[in-house]
Amino acid sequence: MTLRLHNTLTKTKDALEDFPGFDRTNVRMYVCGPTVYDYAHIGNARPVIVFDVVFRLLRHLYGAAHVNYVRNITDIDDKINARAAELAAARGSDVEAARAEITAATAGQYLQDVTALGCLPPTHTPRATDYVREMVAMIETLIAAGHAYAAEGHVLYDVSSKPDYGKLARRSLDEMIAGARVDVAPYKKSPMDFVLWKPSDAATPGWPSPWGRGRPGWHIECSAMGAALLGETFDVHGGGIDLVFPHHENEIAQSEGAHQGHPLARIWMHNGFLQVEGEKMSKSLGNFVTINQLLQDWPGEVLRFNMLRSHYRQPMDWTVAGMTESWKTLERWYAIAEPVAGPRVGAAFLAALCDDLNTPQAIAELHRAPEDELAGGLGLLGFSNVQLRIAAKKAVDTTAIADAIAARNEARKAKNFRESDRIRDALLAQGIVLKDGPGGTTWEVKR
Ligand code: AMP
Ligand code: ZN
Repeated sequence: MTLRLHNTLTKTKDALEDFPGFDRTNVRMYVCGPTVYDYAHIGNARPVIVFDVVFRLLRHLYGAAHVNYVRNITDIDDKINARAAELAAARGSDVEAARAEITAATAGQYLQDVTALGCLPPTHTPRATDYVREMVAMIETLIAAGHAYAAEGHVLYDVSSKPDYGKLARRSLDEMIAGARVDVAPYKKSPMDFVLWKPSDAATPGWPSPWGRGRPGWHIECSAMGAALLGETFDVHGGGIDLVFPHHENEIAQSEGAHQGHPLARIWMHNGFLQVEGEKMSKSLGNFVTINQLLQDWPGEVLRFNMLRSHYRQPMDWTVAGMTESWKTLERWYAIAEPVAGPRVGAAFLAALCDDLNTPQAIAELHRAPEDELAGGLGLLGFSNVQLRIAAKKAVDTTAIADAIAARNEARKAKNFRESDRIRDALLAQGIVLKDGPGGTTWEVKR
């Protein structure tokens, strides 16, 4: 089965296997990760879940040992610095310590959230702070190659040095200059030139560099981490649609500029945006939902399933009604089949996933699949049934179960086995399984 993915660069569905140099024993994917200063919201969950399914599909097709997935953690960023400055001021403490504390806590929360959504840990999750040396080296290479220039403690990428700048966003330089809200600054040759390095004052986190103490721009972070962990050219680069311009356009300019024009990624994948009950999610509209808040009321796998019912490139509307329906479908399926991660998946299901990750079609195939293919399909999509079982356990009336167990013990003592069996069977009919052991009787929710 050949995997074809819609490529933002070519606007066609491309097969990785058609690219010269594609190595099926070393399939490489990079996805832009979170900027860690606040809780991730359910919109941020979309790329995490979508690319986790791509990761699982690649592992299924090429073998788990042959797929390398990098999702970075952006822990150098001016939004983080602003939070760190507030925290440091409130405490009268050091801004660098505040930055480290905020990013460590937020990254930890993020990992917990996405694990609850059933996402596998990527092969590598590099932090920008661990790759500043590589960023400085890449900037030096860009200056030497004539793609960048230093000015007033800044280093800027010279977009006029790259004639195909704009090829991902499909805009010409003139269009971009006319349409973009770009910073005009005296040290820039062109308003489109973007920052690779900028100076830090004493109250801002910074690192030593040939251009003085400062910090990298966001775009160079990804180019340097990607190259360090995956090499010059990799197979899939992903993120949300909002990252196409300028972030990914600039990543291409930097990486190709530093690597003699070798392409950065073969296929560029972008997910559409999620909105809530028909509206853009925003704090002012009061419909801003963090993953963490959602997980208080819903099992993570319900959110995962709800997400996969839409095709990743379409905008999706997140609704409570959709979540409720997703929960019902999963419950019905789990009653028939326990998900297994393994080789047994249906051909039509796999064909749907290989056709630009058509998860709604793949789910439709599961509705008509036999039991074993349903189990395999759910496993490939990253479902495990653990959380629904826990949710079911929380929802059952534990006092009533304890009373029933006590009554059953009385009946057994009185050798009234007809009654004790009746109680056991009545519980079983409600999905509660009793286990008699040396320490007494325990119960669990039937799998
Ligand atoms: P950010 O932390 O804003 O850089 O976002 C992290 C990831 O989430 C990026 O890939 C964004 O494109 C993506 N993203 C942000 N908001 C949404 C949304 N409402 N729907 C889908 N993806 C989003
Ligand atoms: Zn990036």
